[in-house]
Amino acid sequence: MMRIDLHIHTSPRSACSYIDPLELIQKARRLKLDGICLTEHQVLWDIGGVEKLAREGGIRIFRGNELTTNQGDILVFGFYKDIKELLMIQELREEVKTAGGFMIAALPFRGFKTFGIGQLQMTVEQASKRKVLEFVDAVEVGNGKLSPDENDMARNVAEKLGLPGTGGSDAHRVDEVGNWLTVFEKDIRNERELVEEFHAGRFTAISNHQ
Ligand SMILES: [Zn+2]
Repeated sequence: MMRIDLHIHTSPRSACSYIDPLELIQKARRLKLDGICLTEHQVLWDIGGVEKLAREGGIRIFRGNELTTNQGDILVFGFYKDIKELLMIQELREEVKTAGGFMIAALPFRGFKTFGIGQLQMTVEQASKRKVLEFVDAVEVGNGKLSPDENDMARNVAEKLGLPGTGGSDAHRVDEVGNWLTVFEKDIRNERELVEEFHAGRFTAISNHQ
């Protein structure tokens, strides 16, 4: 079993983050996480940099990427193309599929209470019709930056659609690291195995609030 924080931003690769990679590793080790994923905004770490960090820190580190599309933010794994521009979701889906990668709808229902018309709140039924959900392999059902209501909506929608759910802190500050995790059933040694376990669906999201 492996407990991994799947969604973390570090500085300076994500301009909005205050997390120094070395501090991140110390924190992850204090929390006894088995691994962390670096998911910067439109920036992919080079493998050499990640391997060095992992070796020095004594923790497994995997690379992802958080890409902006016309249908919201997507966490991608096993997809190593350097993308800087906004993508159409269909286009990203095709490219990631060809690469054998995995796509997760990140914080899909952030602010959903304001999506409705007037006093009418969005129902699970309506929410599950969001276009982005047709193009992903999984839904982020636990995001540390969202309210319990927003995460619950994502979980209900994922269940309704039969999509698996992931958890990650979306940390931009070190104290946020590890508050949501994805637990994998198997030991994962590298990014290839991470993607395999994603496709096999052998994972669940857990809240890990201290
Ligand atoms: Zn993020």
